[in-house]
Amino acid sequence: MTSIPPIDLTRQYHLLSEQVNHAVNKVLTSGRYIGGAKVKTFEENFAATIGRQECVSCNSGTDALYLALRALEIGSGDEVITPPFTFAATAEAIAITGAKPVFVDINATTFNLDVEKIEAAITPQTKAILPVHLFGQPVKMTEVMRIAKKHHLFVIEDCAQATGATWHNQQVGSWGDVGCFSFFPTKNLGACGDGGALVTNNASIAQAARMLANHGQRERYLQEEIGMNSRLDALQATILLIKLPYLEFWNKQRQEIATRYHQLLSQVEGVILPSVLSGGKGVWNQYTIRIDAKHRDQVRYQLQENGIGSMVYYPLPLHLQPAYQSLGYQVGAFPVAETTAQEVLSLPLFPGLSYQEQETVSTVLARSLQGLTIDVGKRKK
Ligand SMILES: *Cc1c(COP(=O)(O)O)cnc(C)c1O
Repeated sequence: MTSIPPIDLTRQYHLLSEQVNHAVNKVLTSGRYIGGAKVKTFEENFAATIGRQECVSCNSGTDALYLALRALEIGSGDEVITPPFTFAATAEAIAITGAKPVFVDINATTFNLDVEKIEAAITPQTKAILPVHLFGQPVKMTEVMRIAKKHHLFVIEDCAQATGATWHNQQVGSWGDVGCFSFFPTKNLGACGDGGALVTNNASIAQAARMLANHGQRERYLQEEIGMNSRLDALQATILLIKLPYLEFWNKQRQEIATRYHQLLSQVEGVILPSVLSGGKGVWNQYTIRIDAKHRDQVRYQLQENGIGSMVYYPLPLHLQPAYQSLGYQVGAFPVAETTAQEVLSLPLFPGLSYQEQETVSTVLARSLQGLTIDVGKRKK
């Protein structure tokens, strides 16, 4: 039977296994596992890739968001505007600083923050806007920056799923005050473990983040702030340094795979394809279609029965999660996010996915939908 996983990281590894094994071995025999030249070089190269002066590496994308917020002195009593349809880490980072996540609904076409709804959510407590470039699709940053400037707000970009994406030919992560990235293995630039980084052009933000990531100390054993331990280790930095030059190549592959899906699926009834934004270049961390909520889970089950993996990112928006009950949001607060969560289905997409595999996915998907399309087919694409 066919077996097409939602993601296969070994194909990427095999492409570079000799280089990676050799470099990893050198780190292992060096005895220098934390910090050092590899981490520093990676930070320099990554800052240059995104087009910022400073890069502070850390343990994860979640930490990068948290450190960015703390470096901007956002905390208790402050509000941060963010979408409810995203990975948990986005709102979590805000909440653990003591600040309040204030959700704004998403746009049904882009899956991203609806920029037209941002201003209505701004209060005197609002300190920042935290847009998420979800699934690799860039947020309309020109508009976010215009609003932020008008209301004197910081902008922190969650670029975890969008390393290499651009809006108006400018890298995501280089628009706001701080750009936050994750190197979790499934991201566009993935390590072989956890890792993250923030980039900025503001040296004092970088210095504050670096200090907080190192137990709040600049000078050893002198704690100026309550910080944490968050670092990218030498092994991950070494692997990321090898992979960074391939980022563009892999993102191009992802774009080609997305284009092929568009072609293969454009005639399939009952499927709403993800949109391709004009004005930006997405990097397709996910290829996320929408299927009527009544049928989504059944279609997913049938894909699985045929050996095809798919994922639901994300089944429950954050404002309805038990953890955020205290924020007091009810069902219906963000109708677009709520409907989207019931309709989304992410198909296999990763560098190395073959055309034949994509054909199989689309054939099985079309077949699964056929028996179900009575009313689904009437939906507009
Ligand atoms: C993965 C992800 C994060 C967190 O990254 P980690 O490295 O897993 O902590 C944050 N935001 C979004 C949108 C993500 O997809």
